[in-house]
Amino acid sequence: MNYSNADLHCHSIVSDGTLTPEALAQRAKSNGVDLWSLTDHDEIGGQDRAIKAAQAVGLAYLTGTEISVSFAGKTVHIVGLGFDHTQASMAEGLLATRGGREERAQDMAAQLEKVGIKGAYDGALKYVGNPELISRTHFARFLVESGVCSDTSEVFRKYLTEGKPGFVEHKWAQLGNAVKWITGANGIAVIAHPARYAFSPNEEYALITEFIAHGGRGIEVVTGSHTEAEAVRYADVAREFNLLASRGSDFHSPHESRLDLGSLSALPRDLTPVWTLLNERVH
Ligand code: AMP
Ligand code: MN
Ligand code: MN
Ligand code: MN
Repeated sequence: MNYSNADLHCHSIVSDGTLTPEALAQRAKSNGVDLWSLTDHDEIGGQDRAIKAAQAVGLAYLTGTEISVSFAGKTVHIVGLGFDHTQASMAEGLLATRGGREERAQDMAAQLEKVGIKGAYDGALKYVGNPELISRTHFARFLVESGVCSDTSEVFRKYLTEGKPGFVEHKWAQLGNAVKWITGANGIAVIAHPARYAFSPNEEYALITEFIAHGGRGIEVVTGSHTEAEAVRYADVAREFNLLASRGSDFHSPHESRLDLGSLSALPRDLTPVWTLLNERVH
């Protein structure tokens, strides 16, 4: 199938988005998306709901997740698409990846307390309910709610990024394991928003070549996290390394996200879209 408006990256309340899988399916459909994937962070708990909701509105669907990986001292995100979400090894791997979130969040709250921000752990937890899924996004919402900052991007800038008072270094999954969980369940692994990492050229080369050596096949070219110029640059990277190209808004919330579902520009025509190899995996 030829899809003209695929959106293969977004988040629901199952991770750090604000909408349910059902509301996302409806929003994707009404925004003209014709192939959709829900890619919650380190979670596949929303996949059955997303499959059903997509079916209910007549929308083609690929299973998805976005795995947190530690590489060269930074956090890298690997999107998995079109895998069999009922396979145990994927679920176990994601569970282990989520395992450290609660303790990390407690450390973050302790650091924030030192700069005068009280109650951040409980405040952030209120937004997600499950300590396994607590993320910086939930802290950001709490700091906006309590008037410390006026929007979530200000919170990240002032408190939650490397070198700032609420940032806690964390060890996520290994690159090879994340790719293996995805490919072992018959999916395709994709490097998410490559421009976000600010790697040196050598580190970026290492990421891409190691990813490919582990069996990774794709890279996001057009995403809500890239400027037009970055999309041009990573289209070249896709050509150079013979990677499949992916496209996704990274939509989290109507109030927080720069790009809505289905509002991305097209992939360059000469690239091979990742979904051309996933026809048999479409629900
Ligand atoms: P975590 O997995 O807990 O480290 O949280 C990472 C999440 O924070 C990402 O998935 C984004 O949703 C969000 N995020 C990261 N950086 C920023 C930023 N600069 N502005 C807004 N949200 C961000
Ligand atoms: Mn997120
Ligand atoms: Mn990401
Ligand atoms: Mn994302």
